[in-house]
Amino acid sequence: MEEINSKIKEACNDGQGNRILESLEFYKEFIELVNFAFLVINPDNKIAYCNSTAANLFGIDNGELKSLTIFDLFSQIRSYTFEEESLVQNYNDGKSINNEVVQIKRKNNSQIWMNLCLKPILNENEQITCTILTGLDISGMKDYENQLNQIMNFEKLITSISSQFLGTLDFNKAIKDTLKRIGISKMVSRVYLFSFDESNEYLINTHEWCAEGIETHIDFFRKTPLNKFPSVKENILSGKFVSIENSLDFSKGSSNLRKILSSRCVRATLAYPIYTNGIISGILGFDDEKKPRVWAPEDYSLIKVVSQIIGNALERKIDEDKIQESEEKYRNILESIKEGYFEVDLYGNFTFFNDALCEITGYSRENLLNLNYSELYDDDTRQYLYEEFNKLLKIKNVFKMLEYPQKKKNGELIYLESSAYLKYDVNAITGFKGFVRDVSERKKGEFLRRSFNQKLEEKVLIRTNQLTEALDKQKLYLDQIIKSSYFKTEFLATMSHELRTPLNSIIGFTDLLLEGIYGNLNPEQLEFIKDIKSSAEHQFDMISQILDISKIESGQISLKFEDIHLLDFMNNILSTLRSLINEKKLVLEMKGIKKKHLIKADPHKLKHIIENLLNNAIKFTEKGYIIIEFSYYKNGWELLIKDSGIGIAEENFRLIFKDFKRVKSPFVDSTPGSGLGLALTKRIIELHGGRISFSSKLGEGTTFRIRIPNEPKKNDTFVIEQFLGKL
Ligand code: ADP
Repeated sequence: MEEINSKIKEACNDGQGNRILESLEFYKEFIELVNFAFLVINPDNKIAYCNSTAANLFGIDNGELKSLTIFDLFSQIRSYTFEEESLVQNYNDGKSINNEVVQIKRKNNSQIWMNLCLKPILNENEQITCTILTGLDISGMKDYENQLNQIMNFEKLITSISSQFLGTLDFNKAIKDTLKRIGISKMVSRVYLFSFDESNEYLINTHEWCAEGIETHIDFFRKTPLNKFPSVKENILSGKFVSIENSLDFSKGSSNLRKILSSRCVRATLAYPIYTNGIISGILGFDDEKKPRVWAPEDYSLIKVVSQIIGNALERKIDEDKIQESEEKYRNILESIKEGYFEVDLYGNFTFFNDALCEITGYSRENLLNLNYSELYDDDTRQYLYEEFNKLLKIKNVFKMLEYPQKKKNGELIYLESSAYLKYDVNAITGFKGFVRDVSERKKGEFLRRSFNQKLEEKVLIRTNQLTEALDKQKLYLDQIIKSSYFKTEFLATMSHELRTPLNSIIGFTDLLLEGIYGNLNPEQLEFIKDIKSSAEHQFDMISQILDISKIESGQISLKFEDIHLLDFMNNILSTLRSLINEKKLVLEMKGIKKKHLIKADPHKLKHIIENLLNNAIKFTEKGYIIIEFSYYKNGWELLIKDSGIGIAEENFRLIFKDFKRVKSPFVDSTPGSGLGLALTKRIIELHGGRISFSSKLGEGTTFRIRIPNEPKKNDTFVIEQFLGKL
């Protein structure tokens, strides 16, 4: 094009106008091929040249076109920027027109869009030699642009409608706005929304928008029985459009719907079902009253998309209603519980709480509403809560248990235990909520228990130390006793010899004196010597007993077991005691001892045992009887020595087998004895592997029982056990 222009200019500069066409001859073939209109207009306004595209675009035969003037063409051109006159004016003024989008009305009445350029060609003298008109058919592009605009408008409309239903939903307002937007955008007479009633048999006209001057139908269609319009029912229930383009065109069937629409002046209508939760719950549609209307695909799309938006919004509303209902129930529950409940926003401002929280904190409802959560606490607790809530936010944890002190409004310090949850609204975190409980009592208890435990621990520690100390002492003491005991028995065993020897001499000499070997004794001397002898004998017996005990304790005594004929053995013992028994006129009885009875024991030691028991029985019995009773038991034999003597008071039972212990009473004191007899007897019996025990009642008598097993066991630990038993 540029090249052509410059060629033309070149020709013009020659000053020979005719050469333009001549030079065009050169490009003619090319110009004929191009898809834009190309016209050369002479200064006399006549069309000097046009290509066939120009003829085609203007809808005028090529030959005819050449006979026209530029002004004839101007009458076919409609510009949206220039008025027709101004286009002509521009041409007359020799001005260029660049890329003007114009509409060309062709001869056959059809229209095209054209990109128009008009350029005057000047010679050296600045005179117009000709004007070049080029025009490009841009109808396709324009159509595309229109479509694009339509799509954009559609999307804009849908976006603006959808946005109605976002955020807090005033459902009625959003529906009303939506109907209005559709109505205006589609330039219809009316937009309507129907919902099914509970029986699903009636359609209720719930919402309506009417264009200016259009009569409302909402009262007329308030309750429309669906059965009356079977075609509508069928379409709606099967999820299809209901479309009527001309209600008066009964050639397309004379349904009830057409009749009623025409009677209500509705010429065209288009409706589509609304689904909520997968179920058809109503219809959305629009009417046109002015003229029949062929519904465009965009109309179908729009109504379908909007009914989906409304359906979704309805679902949300139903859910929200349910939530609100359950929230109400939940709030009622919250009010009736003892636990405090709080909801705060992300800044800690109270948004909801129950009465129990007021009671726990001591703040009134008004106080709390104006308070921030953090204002209830001291710096440390505030910091603690801040950190804990932040953790909850960071890790999106759903739950946390917190414990912290709080000052009530009246200054009283209490301890609270609180759960903390994130609070969501749809998907966004909007704050925190939780339950609060006063755990001051529990805390006090815990504190007391802790301090008690601490004190107890201290006490236990002190006591343990004391006990350890005592045990250590006792151990030391025992060690010493054991040492001294061994020492004592060692000592006694060796020294008793030395003690007994002088006593033997004393007794021997007194015997000689009493026999009168050294001359006769006067009665006074006789009495003295008798006393000396009995004292020496007593001493001797005592030393013998001590010696025996220490021998047993140091393990130096060994028993010589023999078979003993019990009856003979007893008679032998009794023969020496008979005179004492008779002296006191006591009755002696032996029970269960037969000739055949054989027992196993050390005869020397057994004699000592029985003599000692019988001696005591005689000594401590003034009148009555002494009974000796023999029997066998499972593993050995048993001997009972019963007397009807003074008896032993229960509080003295523990003394009886102890070394050197006698019962303190005038009667006992009047009898001879050292308190060693039973101590030694017990040791000897135990050396046999047997046991001695007694029963007694003060003033009624005593029974001693000895039990000796047939097979005495050797017991190496006997000595030390005996010794420890003494402690
Ligand atoms: P002793 O006879 O030398 O006093 P024992 O060791 O034989 O020492 O007895 C210890 C004490 O037991 C006696 O002093 C006496 O108090 C009491 N006793 C022993 N046998 C009898 C008994 N048969 N009846 C009453 N008391 C008895």
